[in-house]
Amino acid sequence: MTKNNHHCRPGCGACCIAPSISSAIGILKNGKKAGERCYYLDENLLCKLIDSPERPEVCKNFKFDPIICGNNPEEAMKIMKELEES
Ligand code: SF4
Ligand code: SF4
Repeated sequence: MTKNNHHCRPGCGACCIAPSISSAIGILKNGKKAGERCYYLDENLLCKLIDSPERPEVCKNFKFDPIICGNNPEEAMKIMKELEES
């Protein structure tokens, strides 16, 4: 997901789908709902806003964390869904 996120797993994108984001994301003025794929996640599961000032702070600040990212995208989705619901 992030350029400076060296441990981030290629082809994952879970953190751009599972969590809700309340701040504006480009044209999505109200952010996105939990489980909704971000409009700016491209077909290679990379962020189209990576170098844009429109990229939310929450995205810039999110770093790979093995506790959240798990061992694969499915685990990451499950963990983030649980966090979202708690
Ligand atoms: S959930 Fe973790 S591993 Fe997956 S794209 Fe986001 S930061 Fe990378
Ligand atoms: S703006 Fe980029 S980093 Fe943030 S959720 Fe959307 S695709 Fe992911």
